Amino acid sequence: MWDDAVTGYDFGSSHPMDPVRLSLTMGLVRAYGLDRAVEVRAAPAAGDSTLRLVHHQEYVDAVRRVSLDPRAADGSYGLGTMDDPAFAGMHEASALIAGLSVGAAEAVWDGEVAHAVNFAGGLHHAMPGSASGFCIYNDAALAVARLLELGAERVAYIDVDVHHGDGVQTAFWEDPRVLTISLHEHPRTLFPQTGWPEETGGGAGAGSAVNVALPAGTGDEGWLRAFHSVVPELLADFRPEALVTQHGADTHFDDPLAHLAVSLDAQRAVQASCHELAHEYVDGGRWVALGGGGYAVVDVVPRSWTHLVGIAGHAPVEPESVVPEAWKSEVYARTRQLGPGRMTDGRTPSWQSWEDGYDPADRLDQSILATRKAVFPLRGLLA
Ligand SMILES: [Zn+2]
Ligand SMILES: [Zn+2]
Repeated sequence: MWDDAVTGYDFGSSHPMDPVRLSLTMGLVRAYGLDRAVEVRAAPAAGDSTLRLVHHQEYVDAVRRVSLDPRAADGSYGLGTMDDPAFAGMHEASALIAGLSVGAAEAVWDGEVAHAVNFAGGLHHAMPGSASGFCIYNDAALAVARLLELGAERVAYIDVDVHHGDGVQTAFWEDPRVLTISLHEHPRTLFPQTGWPEETGGGAGAGSAVNVALPAGTGDEGWLRAFHSVVPELLADFRPEALVTQHGADTHFDDPLAHLAVSLDAQRAVQASCHELAHEYVDGGRWVALGGGGYAVVDVVPRSWTHLVGIAGHAPVEPESVVPEAWKSEVYARTRQLGPGRMTDGRTPSWQSWEDGYDPADRLDQSILATRKAVFPLRGLLA
């Protein structure tokens, strides 16, 4: 899913979410010819009736007001804050990104395609009634909500952004049809200070929220171990009719806003695992993959999401591949930076399986066990 206008989602030059990360990603996708290997399509911006699947109309109205007159933003509804400064055209750019994710959901639900990617999406912090954490409309929650509206009875959401997927969790807190799984840096050390293992859903949705709170400093082996110790078992049991995943690239060791130490190679491995899990456990392999955070906008984000497009497009880019010169020239022209040389960080990701035993003294294993103990019994699974 792509429309050049997504780069209009721009909080200004002093904000870390620089839209150049989206244009450089699309540039790298094209440099590898992936835009010819897959179908690139746009979708209309989400209208009010779609936005209302997750958001309150009075919030949408407030976004529209500050979009027309950014100086009117005074912090109410989270608009006009440091994280979410108002800008002209904010409603249009945000609704377009939401529309691309909703369009992706419709295309996989109808069976037009098995998989769809919107790397401009994954704006997982937006709440029903307020902006939060660089996110205005929650396209991830809207994609899930649209799948439900189209008749899906079970939708799984996996969020591997370094930050907790709090907005999506909140939207479906009491909804047993949606299983949300978020792996993120521990709330003690990172925004938004939620995503504790004990957050497991409420009311009819008890047991439908899963949170793995990773110790700061977690690297490839720990991150992959956590993913594989929680996600496959839950999906095998839940058997979703559609899968939505969020691939924020801010888990990377070069990311300036967080404290995990994950490589591009491990990010690619998790993308590939999500693809395999979609084929193994999801009806028709229905998979919507989204972007998310990522503030190493030249060295990490474009490579990570180009791998995602390649994997979802059944045309994976080899990690060893040398980055095309034409793209490096584009990077230099846009940013005066040299850009990365290869599609790898030179790591070979591996991990040890949970079934092979765990170390009670290890902080990562304590985190995994806390999650399993908090939520697996609620789903009838052994912790
Ligand atoms: Zn993030
Ligand atoms: Zn596939």
